[in-house]
Amino acid sequence: MKPVASKPSAGPSASVMPTYNRFDLVFERGEGSWLVTTKGERFLDFASGVAVNALGHAHPVLVAALTEQAGKLWHTSNLYRVAGQERLAERLCAATFAERVFFCNSGAEACEGAIKAARRTQFKRGKAHKNQIITFDGAFHGRTLATIAAGGNETYLEGFEPRMPGFHVLPFGDLAALEQAVDDSTAAIMIEPLQGEGGIRVASDAYLKAIRALADKHGALVVFDEVQSGVGRTGRLFAHESSGVTPDIMAIAKGIGGGFPVGAFLTTEEAGQAMGAGSHGSTFGGNPLAMAVGNAVLDVILAPGFLAEVQSKGLYLKQKFAQLKDEFPGVVVDLRGEGLLQGIRVVPPAGDIVKALIGQKLLAMSARDNVLRVAPPLTVSTAEIDDAVNRIAHAFRSLPKTAG
Ligand code: PLP
Repeated sequence: MKPVASKPSAGPSASVMPTYNRFDLVFERGEGSWLVTTKGERFLDFASGVAVNALGHAHPVLVAALTEQAGKLWHTSNLYRVAGQERLAERLCAATFAERVFFCNSGAEACEGAIKAARRTQFKRGKAHKNQIITFDGAFHGRTLATIAAGGNETYLEGFEPRMPGFHVLPFGDLAALEQAVDDSTAAIMIEPLQGEGGIRVASDAYLKAIRALADKHGALVVFDEVQSGVGRTGRLFAHESSGVTPDIMAIAKGIGGGFPVGAFLTTEEAGQAMGAGSHGSTFGGNPLAMAVGNAVLDVILAPGFLAEVQSKGLYLKQKFAQLKDEFPGVVVDLRGEGLLQGIRVVPPAGDIVKALIGQKLLAMSARDNVLRVAPPLTVSTAEIDDAVNRIAHAFRSLPKTAG
């Protein structure tokens, strides 16, 4: 037997596959918007596990739901009814366009399921030739073979050929290009109403409306990926709600589990019916532990006043970022985002700023387009927003050769 360390070693373990460039930080516990390392250092968490910990760390409602369920039942498989799954599905349907829900464990799986449901719906309509999916540059739908083809990011595709066929990646926001591309072979147009990884790019309400109209004209479906933008992140339950447009299929994950792995795709009755018995499955999807947490997340997020508060905190954060833009014209290019998913497009490499923020004990993220991205817990306080903005200002000041 090879020796195994019982504690985190001085550096990253060589036994973990090197797919991530990780910061050399090991967190031991979390409280609300704060994370504490094994060395006792406290970090203000404006990353939330890439927009996952919607209610921060160790939220008492989630801890109670998970521990109570843990003492009763963990897993039964989907060969039997799962009470928590039925309840969460009914609540998600009541709160959205949807009439059917399939539960899985991650965002990529939710997107894969959404793509399958789109093709299967066309197949059930007798239109099996309508099997092409239109997506947009900057999109991120996950790391499976289908979702890297859907995203079209060459870096993520490199070395994984052959590329899965059936995806057409168009420029984001270019309606003329879309009008040209949609044809009788189009099964669905798939879009993030607010691109997270792609640089906090918001699809305008008018653009979403035009996508819906074009899809309807050609008998294509609309698929929204709200894995990052959904579950209260924008101050609405789902980002697309402001447009008045509804999709046929929607992928969700991240926030709905509050840190427990939960994903789902939601569909109309037609698309849900198309996914009949045997068409899809997941061993772990919708298991009792996941569903207990998902229901508890909704208990908090759907409570009266919660989303209104996210909206007002989002506005507050936006104002604070606008002040940073005034104070640091040499660093800040523009501001993006909604609610508590916001970005600052910066002049210096965004990755350098994320590193400088580690020095300030603030966790943030970068996104494409050289954007510094923040996604604090939806439970963040305005005092914590002030604190984070001060840390960002300090980091900007510490950058070499910056004005302000
Ligand atoms: N879709 C979007 C919009 C995402 O932001 C992500 C993850 O960041 C995914 C899909 C993939 O989710 P996961 O990493 O859980 O597979």
